[in-house]
Amino acid sequence: MEKVFATDRLVELLPKVKAFVSKELLPLEEGHHKRSAEETYKLLDAKREKVKSAGLWGLHLPKHEGGLGLTLCEFGQISEALAQTPFYGHYTFNCQAPDIGNTELLGKFGSDDQKKTYLHPLMEGKIRSCFSMTEPEFAGSNPTRLGTLAVRRGDKYIINGHKWFSSSAEGATFTIVMAVTNPEASKYQRASMIIVPTSNPGFKHIRKIPIFGETGAGWASHSEVRFENCEVPVGNLIGVEGSGFQLAQERLGPGRIHHCMRWIGMAEKALDLMCKRAVSREIDEGVMLGEKQFIQGFIAESRVEIDAARLLVLSVATAIDMEGAPAARHRISGIKFYVANMMLKVLDRAIQVHGALGLTDETMLATMFQHERGARIWDGADEVHKQSLALNILKGYGLDIKKKKRPA
Ligand SMILES: Cc1cc2nc3c(=O)[nH]c(=O)nc-3n(C[C@H](O)[C@H](O)[C@H](O)COP(=O)(O)OP(=O)(O)OC[C@H]3O[C@@H](n4cnc5c(N)ncnc54)[C@H](O)[C@@H]3O)c2cc1C
Repeated sequence: MEKVFATDRLVELLPKVKAFVSKELLPLEEGHHKRSAEETYKLLDAKREKVKSAGLWGLHLPKHEGGLGLTLCEFGQISEALAQTPFYGHYTFNCQAPDIGNTELLGKFGSDDQKKTYLHPLMEGKIRSCFSMTEPEFAGSNPTRLGTLAVRRGDKYIINGHKWFSSSAEGATFTIVMAVTNPEASKYQRASMIIVPTSNPGFKHIRKIPIFGETGAGWASHSEVRFENCEVPVGNLIGVEGSGFQLAQERLGPGRIHHCMRWIGMAEKALDLMCKRAVSREIDEGVMLGEKQFIQGFIAESRVEIDAARLLVLSVATAIDMEGAPAARHRISGIKFYVANMMLKVLDRAIQVHGALGLTDETMLATMFQHERGARIWDGADEVHKQSLALNILKGYGLDIKKKKRPA
């Protein structure tokens, strides 16, 4: 724990979370590739009950929703600890994406009815959810262009559209769909977020999309879905019509802190495995791998890069806590691409140090790489975040491409 970001409640809470992770969850990794998904979820559901009885449930929730009201900076450090076992940690503590984002969104902007029907069962871990924004036919990097339409008829919306990469759609009770409700409005006011129960006959689950050859199951899967004359009551609209992008910003800001801290936890895990291999692999008689300078370079660089990333992310989390996500927008862009690349670099080095073993399922390295390569693409590709940050910096030098303003 970085002392400068430690608070009394974190000092009390974090060791409990770490102890739970190492006692109850890390041992499950041994059988990760041998168990079926059903067996794994059954095990994790039992562990969820233990989280509840340990008083560690709902750590991410605000006080008025029955949580501890941790700041983003505090919860970020919990998120790092949970990422010691990235496939089990967040899920077992019910703070896995995309549910955590949907929970925050409904907590802030949901109506009383939406909270009762969707938010509360989500918080209790009784249901799961997904988020449907990206479409195969349009560049997700420019989400103002969407083909999905929600047309209002009386007290209903009729939704038609095609989405993919709706993560965790299999087994989800509802999705939050981003659809155009106001096609004539300016481009950031066209879309809205609407709740669609997956039991709705107009919601079609088409298929799970394999990633690097793995189809996944349940929460750990990504689906193509269609909305075909899908009728939902207007009461399923979140917030007001046309507020979709504003809500997306609210949802994604804290979400990026959660992801970044999870990636930092994963990079720590990769570095730990790298070091263990460096001191256990004999490369010549009496010579360990860790005695080679190349490997020492990997270790030293990884150590500093992880520490630098953590300080950066926690400082941005603190800025969000103090000023809100919109004010910290460009700093959030900075950590998103910086930490995703750092994590992938450390993972790649750890794989390299393990040689062929690093590519197998004998360690969690290859699985982490397979699942997290997308980090440089989802929630905004690297290039989009870099562009947004750079253009904001260049504004200070008189270049504003939106206003077509160039320095004299
Ligand atoms: C594992 C995974 C899970 C996901 N989960 C969800 C989910 O739950 N819900 C959901 O709605 N979506 C989800 N997504 C989709 C994700 O948000 C999109 O993939 C992302 O927004 C990029 O959109 P795209 O794939 O259409 O790529 P495109 O927009 O077509 O971009 C392709 C590439 O072009 C480059 N590029 C784009 N814009 C620029 C630019 N301005 N300048 C220079 N280069 C540029 C980048 O390299 C980018 O990777 C997920 C994606 C992945 C991989």
